[in-house]
Amino acid sequence: MTETTFEALPLATPIQRALADKGYTTPSPIQAKAIPVLLEGRDLLACAQTGTGKTAAFALPVLDQFARNPRKPFRRGVRCLILTPTRELAVQVMQSFETYGKYLDLRIGMVFGGVSEKPQIKNLYQGLDICVATTGRLLDLHQQGHVDLSQVETFILDEADRMLDMGFIRDIRKIAAMIPQQRQTMLFSATMAPDITTLANTLLHNPGEIRIAPQGTTAEKIDQHVLFVDKGNKQNLLIDLLKDREEAHRSELSLVFSRTKHGAKNLAKKLNSIGIEADSIHGNKSQAARQKTLDLFKQGRIPVLVATDVAARGIDVKNITLVINFDLPMEADAYVHRIGRTARAGKSGRALSFCSLEEVALLRDVEKLIKKTVPVYEDHDHHAQAIASLHQSGARVVKPKNGGGGQRGGGGGGQRGGGGGQRRSGPPRQGGNGGGGNRNFRGNSGGNPQASSSSSGNPRPQRRNAGRRSTSQP
Ligand code: AMP
Repeated sequence: MTETTFEALPLATPIQRALADKGYTTPSPIQAKAIPVLLEGRDLLACAQTGTGKTAAFALPVLDQFARNPRKPFRRGVRCLILTPTRELAVQVMQSFETYGKYLDLRIGMVFGGVSEKPQIKNLYQGLDICVATTGRLLDLHQQGHVDLSQVETFILDEADRMLDMGFIRDIRKIAAMIPQQRQTMLFSATMAPDITTLANTLLHNPGEIRIAPQGTTAEKIDQHVLFVDKGNKQNLLIDLLKDREEAHRSELSLVFSRTKHGAKNLAKKLNSIGIEADSIHGNKSQAARQKTLDLFKQGRIPVLVATDVAARGIDVKNITLVINFDLPMEADAYVHRIGRTARAGKSGRALSFCSLEEVALLRDVEKLIKKTVPVYEDHDHHAQAIASLHQSGARVVKPKNGGGGQRGGGGGGQRGGGGGQRRSGPPRQGGNGGGGNRNFRGNSGGNPQASSSSSGNPRPQRRNAGRRSTSQP
C-alpha cells in the first residue's frame, strides 16, 4: 500500500462515498499508479497480478468519467466495453462496477455464453453505460444486430494474457476493429509475454506503462512448497492435508486445482464420500451451477472447492488461505494465477503443489518462470524421494503431453480401498508443533510451520521421522 489516500485523488464525490462505504482508504500500488494516468484520459498498459486491486484501478477512473459526463446510452449502444476471458471474471468485474458506482445512475450489464441470450438482448436494447463481456457471445450478438459498438468510448481488456492463452486473439482483433479509433484503451495482464506486447502495440496509443510485479513473480506473501508424490498417492496426500486443516482451521477456505473437468468432479465426490465437504467448478457445469457453488464457497458454507483453471479464473474470495495444485499446470503462467487466489487483499496464504514423476518438467518450467526454487516439503506420509532426487539432479525430463498429473475420470487410481477414512494412526511425530499439533498445513495463523526450514534458505530440509513414515496404511 502507498501513502496516497483515495480522498487525495480527484475522484468524483459519488465514487468517494462508495469507497468510504466499502472501507477503502488507501489505494493499492496499482491503483495509486494507474488512476492518475487514466484520469488524464491516457491509454494504459498494466502488468499486474491478480489480487492487486487491478479491477478498481480501471473501474474508478471509468466511473469518474461517467460521473462527470452523464449521458444516456443510446439504443443497443455501449459506452464502456470490458472484455474478460471467463464468465466468472465478468461477474466479478461487474460486481465491482456496481459496488463503486452505486451512487451513480448507470446501466451496467453482462454478455457471456452458456446462458440464454434473451435477457442480455433485452438489456442491450436499452443501451449500456458499462458492458462486461466475453468475446464469443459478444460477437454472436453483434452479428445478430443486438449490439452496436460504434460509440464505445472506453475499451478495457482484463487478464489479456489469459485471453490469448485461450485462443481469443482473433476475437479481440475483430471486436477492436468495430470500436472507434478515438477511444481510451486499457490492457491489463499478469505477464508481459511477447504476444501481449504485440497486441498492446496495435491497440494502445502512447500508453502509460505500469508494472506492479516483475514478470512471473509470485506474490511475496504466499508461502509456497512442492510435495513430491507418486501420482497414485496424490489423493491420499490431499485427504491427509485437508483433514488436518479441517481440524485446526474450520473457517479457512481451500482451493484445489485439478487439470481436468472429470478430475475436479471426481475429486470433490471423493472428498465428500469421506466426510470432507467439497464441491467443484469446471467447464461442464452450467453457469448458474458454477455461480451457486462459488457463492456457497464465498460464504464459507463449502470449505473446499476443486476447480479447473478456466473455471477458477474469476475467483476472488478473501478467505482462501490454502491453494493446492493437485496437478501442476501445463503452462507455467497458470501457476502464478492459481496461487494468486490466496493471499488476496494484502493477506497471506499458502500454496502447495503436488509433483509426480511425470510432472517434474512442469515444475522446472514453473521455477524458471518465477526465477526461484520452490521449497520442498517432505514431512508427509507420501513423500517420494526418487522424484525429489530426479528433480534435484537436473537430469533431462520430458514435458508430458497431457499434464501427467494422474487425476483421471475414475477418481484416483487404486489407492487404499476405503479412501482417506483410514488415516495414519501411527505414533505422534517427533518435532511436532507442540501443543498436540504435529502437522504443518493448518492455515496461516498456526505459527511458523516447520516446513519453513525449507523456505528460509535451505531448499532441502532434513527429512524428519524418516524411519517412521508409512505410505500405505492397512
Ligand atoms: P482485484 O485484484 O481487482 O481482483 O482485487 C483484489 C481484492 O482487493 C478485491 O477483493 C478488492 O475488493 C480488494 N481491494 C481492491 N482495492 C482495495 C483497496 N484499495 N483497499 C482494500 N481492498 C481493496
